[in-house]
Amino acid sequence: MTTPLPVFERLTVIGCGLIGSSVVRAAREYKAAGHITVADISQTVLDRVAALGIADAVEADLGKAVETADLVIFATPVLAVADVMATIAPHLKAGATISDVGSVKGSVSEAMQAAAPVGVHIIPGHPIAGTEQSGPDAGFAELFQDRWTILTPIAARHDDAYALAVAKLASFWRTLGAQVEQMDERHHDLVLAVTSHLPHLIAYNIVGTAADLEEVTQAEVMKYSAGGFRDFTRIAASDPTMWRDIFVANREAVLDVLGRFTEDLQALSRAIRWGEAEKLHELFTRTREIRRGVIALGQESPEPNFGRDRGKH
Ligand code: NAP
Repeated sequence: MTTPLPVFERLTVIGCGLIGSSVVRAAREYKAAGHITVADISQTVLDRVAALGIADAVEADLGKAVETADLVIFATPVLAVADVMATIAPHLKAGATISDVGSVKGSVSEAMQAAAPVGVHIIPGHPIAGTEQSGPDAGFAELFQDRWTILTPIAARHDDAYALAVAKLASFWRTLGAQVEQMDERHHDLVLAVTSHLPHLIAYNIVGTAADLEEVTQAEVMKYSAGGFRDFTRIAASDPTMWRDIFVANREAVLDVLGRFTEDLQALSRAIRWGEAEKLHELFTRTREIRRGVIALGQESPEPNFGRDRGKH
């Protein structure tokens, strides 16, 4: 079924960094929204968005920015969502759809619902696409092409109006080029803890460890940084505020998988200590197969894609 365009007449994006500005650019490029307003806590960001000319209006007053919006998308760091929701709640239009792009869904969904007025549709979302860059200049319209966007609708909402709003939001993301899947929010947080949050934690940790090693100088770390370590430094360069918020907001699921990971690491360290070569070979063979599976599914994050690395977060 083809959706008539624009999918939403009036879109407001709150927080116009990498992801917010990509939504704005894509919504305009693919005609998913008729009129686009950008709101942000930072006047510098608003000035930059105005200079780039990617939105129809910029607004520093968050309440004013959402008054006529049919779709509001939060693209701020996840811990800012509760405050933003409380600020805009009295200004939301009845029947409006309120969504987000945050990398954590359980606690964000709770925060959105806690302050939401009756009569709006809260539908949390997460596009699994991104780069290590931040800010409005870093965004681009093709970011979501052939990437997954996961929607985590509120389980307690069974009414037809809500189902219609979910279908319309899914259609919005498909117009931006994404493939859309629905998932339980807790399951989302566990899946992302394994596939994205833990790998980032490992990268932050290994780069920190290398930097702190007294026997190896910083200059040597940089000079001899070969394939593996270089990749870790790229991941460890991700936005500190965004990742601070992710680990605080998804603490339970991250600690869960971290516990499991630590046990496996202990087993690996025992195998190395006792020279259990076969055990190591077996694991490395299994993981090589998984890598081949990832490539076959087209889910790797290739280097030169639209000139940028579109990782997943
Ligand atoms: P970003 O480039 O840093 O952009 C965030 C923007 O939100 C900034 O302009 C920031 O302003 C603004 N902001 C912060 N607090 C605000 C508030 N209270 N009210 C209004 N605006 C506020 O970050 P991003 O990478 O686009 O990430 C945004 C969201 O997308 C996060 O929730 C993240 O989990 C999610 N996400 C990120 C990726 C990724 O790869 N980066 C991928 C998928 C999902 P200041 O600069 O002044 O702080």
